[in-house]
Amino acid sequence: MKNIAILGSTGSIGTQTIEVVRQYSEDFRIVALSCNSNIDLLEKQVREFKPLLCAVYDEDKAKELELKIKDVPCKVVGGMEGLLEVAAIKESDILVTAIVGMIGVMPTVTAIESKKDIALANKETLVTAGHIIIPMADAYGVKILPVDSEHSAIFQSLNGERHNEISKILLTCSGGPFRGYTKDQLKNVTRDDALNHPNWSMGAKITIDSSTLVNKGLEVMEAKWLFGVTYDKVQVVVHPQSVIHSMVEYEDGAIIAELGTPDMKLPIQYALTYPERRVLDTKKLDFYQLKSMTFEEPDMDTFLGLKYAYEVGNIGGSMPTVYNAANEYAVRKFLNGEIAFLDIYDIIRDAIDSHKLIDNPGVDEIIEIEKNVYDYLDKNYK
Ligand code: NAD
Ligand code: MG
Repeated sequence: MKNIAILGSTGSIGTQTIEVVRQYSEDFRIVALSCNSNIDLLEKQVREFKPLLCAVYDEDKAKELELKIKDVPCKVVGGMEGLLEVAAIKESDILVTAIVGMIGVMPTVTAIESKKDIALANKETLVTAGHIIIPMADAYGVKILPVDSEHSAIFQSLNGERHNEISKILLTCSGGPFRGYTKDQLKNVTRDDALNHPNWSMGAKITIDSSTLVNKGLEVMEAKWLFGVTYDKVQVVVHPQSVIHSMVEYEDGAIIAELGTPDMKLPIQYALTYPERRVLDTKKLDFYQLKSMTFEEPDMDTFLGLKYAYEVGNIGGSMPTVYNAANEYAVRKFLNGEIAFLDIYDIIRDAIDSHKLIDNPGVDEIIEIEKNVYDYLDKNYK
């Protein structure tokens, strides 16, 4: 029996994690759940799985939920303190970080300190604090199991290859809904256009990130930390069908890849059952139907999200945090209809250019940098 705690159980990854758990209820037990504010869904999850603990970041909603589930023996907590309690709960073996944004950093640190394995979906954590998280996981003997489909594919392509040098990571990218667009065409795209991802159904923030290629940029940085490679060894390959989920090239030129239909339940389940594989009720790949796969070079001059990611990744220190925080800020504004699509890039650029680099920032500094970026952008873009 594996005991699971979930950060962000009401979201896209969170609910798919729950589907996986439901299918293998004899092997998995949910001991803690949490969300930002969607207490209606959280209540249903609590009633179904009877966890020991649940956390709601919004404190008023936490109180509301507490009243609603009085009849269930489940402790309700709120705020960041509550998330940290979920991360550290004594009864769990693994924490699924399905929360969105760099708010995931602190709970992940706490979970590692509490010796929990991490099924990592929240890429913002490694982007901003990879230099802290990775050595810390090593020191505490904790496994970081990637849930992001590309990183799970790379992880699977490394199975049995531990002693061989990676010559290159080939990170595949669907290209998003605006693949092939020129800058001019991007000027007038709307929020709804950007939310219409061709292959994956995901939360709003990551869907926008996929349309700007910021998501791929975050994934390049995530790959650097997870697999200990330098940026010149991470190459993004646009592959619109999303069938190859990523690949590893070895020194002898051999390339190992993981392929399948685009279904996040596969990497989620693999992170939970690793090193075993289990039956998964998903559409299997049919090569007769597929017929062909295509590949392209990413257009980094138009999709600046990826170009800037390599830039800030290579600078390192606090720069990836600035890139990430500015993007979180800009995406929120774009989703609220307050700015145009290309403004997202301008906001990230502005934040990078106005930041004074801090080498090797600690967790507190990372959180402070995020706040400073928000304050700076508020002054200029409110
Ligand atoms: P989502 O928006 O669908 O869900 C986010 C979850 O986090 C929700 O349960 C929400 O309640 C919770 N949350 C948000 N802010 C919170 C806060 N302040 N406190 C507590 N909980 C909070 O997002 P998603 O698409 O499931 O993505 C989650 C993470 O996984 C992101 O980092 C994303 O980049 C990554 N990821 C997602 C996918 C995907 O297919 N959805 C794929 C790869 C990686
Ligand atoms: Mg991904």
